[in-house]
Amino acid sequence: MQLHYIGNSKVRSTSERTIPVIDPSDGHPYDEIQRGTAEDMDAAVKAARQCYEGVWRKLSAAERGRLLMRLSQKIAEHADELAAIEQRDCGKPTKQAKADALALVRYFEFYSGACDKLHGETIPYQQGYTVLTWREPHGVTGHVIPWNYPMQIFGRSVGGALAAGNVCVVKPSEDACLSLLRVAELAAEAGFPDGAINIVTGYGHEVGDALARHAGIDHISFTGSPRVGTLIQQVAAERHCPVTLELGGKSPQVVFADADLDEALPVVINAIVQNAGQTCSAGSRLLVEQSLYEPLLERLGKAFANLRVGPAAMDLDVGPLIRQSQQQRVWDFLSDAQHADIPMVAQGQVVDEAPESGYYQAPTLLRDVPVTHRLAQEEVFGPVLASMSFKDEDQAVEMANATHFGLVAGIWTRDGARQLRMARRVKSGQVFINNYGAGGGVELPFGGVKSSGYGREKGFEALYGFTTVKTVAIKHG
Ligand code: NAD
Repeated sequence: MQLHYIGNSKVRSTSERTIPVIDPSDGHPYDEIQRGTAEDMDAAVKAARQCYEGVWRKLSAAERGRLLMRLSQKIAEHADELAAIEQRDCGKPTKQAKADALALVRYFEFYSGACDKLHGETIPYQQGYTVLTWREPHGVTGHVIPWNYPMQIFGRSVGGALAAGNVCVVKPSEDACLSLLRVAELAAEAGFPDGAINIVTGYGHEVGDALARHAGIDHISFTGSPRVGTLIQQVAAERHCPVTLELGGKSPQVVFADADLDEALPVVINAIVQNAGQTCSAGSRLLVEQSLYEPLLERLGKAFANLRVGPAAMDLDVGPLIRQSQQQRVWDFLSDAQHADIPMVAQGQVVDEAPESGYYQAPTLLRDVPVTHRLAQEEVFGPVLASMSFKDEDQAVEMANATHFGLVAGIWTRDGARQLRMARRVKSGQVFINNYGAGGGVELPFGGVKSSGYGREKGFEALYGFTTVKTVAIKHG
């Protein structure tokens, strides 16, 4: 049984209740986590505050950097172990689970080097004054994390917050906490003081809500659905607590007729099937220039039909979805497509070895999806690609921007001027030209516009959100 991790100790919940941990590959429970309470959250916030006011704020930036580097090295030593934990907990194929563990290593490596490079400015002002700014940490930051990439999202969010001088209270998803509980132990081994990283598990409406309401949390970083993002903002607004929101997307992959198709096709496919489509930045809409539409769909259809889905440990193209309700959600979308006579071009295959009780969904390619249909508007969060055609660049822009979201866009064209025009006109936090995601580099600022959220994580940019600026004006004559 797993316990909370508070003040570098394993702690039982005051609820004395647990939540089963289910293996998505077979739908069977194999462990339990604590069902946390508001009291547990309060204990974590107190431990964090004590750490912050005690040892943490006295550490120099360089010492903090060394701690982050030691944690990065510890994670690297335990990367296989962490990948195996994440694989079973989230149903990730081996290559994905390993990639996630290595990304976690990179986040702490990157942010270890950033700690002592974040500084304020001096500002030219009136005669007789010296004015300077300090970048100060918020103090205790709260991190609400979803189930789709627990290690990666912990790395980008907690790594950035610690580098900026904060201490952290983390509420992982009730569907995927195990890797993070292990990372917290590794942090203690790496020398992080008691209370610098605290993890409280449980349901969102219980401990997540308690985190958002807690007066001792000075900043909230939330990654998850727009619905819960709204709730968190409302609760945080009551006490004017700053929030960074990383919400979902309905990101377009726009392919012009002059694109290099051999390059584009594997990337277009990976952008929707990676992590079984449960990726906030999934390229879930495919916009293709009319003259290329039929030949592209023909090639893509063949590739989709060859995709294989099965248990995480088989390391196929696609693993299971996280839980039964997510599987049902995808089925509902597909049944809506059928009712709207949206043609299905191709579907991958679930292998015979996949247990009936697992949460499998074959990748599905749809065509001629109307721009206003929910399959072109809402996040499916499953391996379903909605394709449609456009006649020219203006229409491509219009269609790319025709959702409430604005997280990522992929543009495929060899025309350099068009690359830049498209990058400027598409409304999203990231634009990738002739690639999609650029390998997910930890250096690259990430976040959305519109309903995809606000604030940036990843890269050096994140450190600005995890700090606040204090202006000091000295009158010396
Ligand atoms: P979710 O919003 O249901 O849950 C996310 C987290 O919020 C979980 O830890 C959950 O327990 C917690 N939570 C739920 N209700 C809460 C409440 N009332 N108060 C506080 N916390 C609460 O999302 P999910 O199902 O875990 O993840 C899928 C969604 O997350 C998708 O919409 C996806 O696009 C989005 N997502 C976005 C990003 C990004 O970086 N933009 C990354 C991953 C996932």
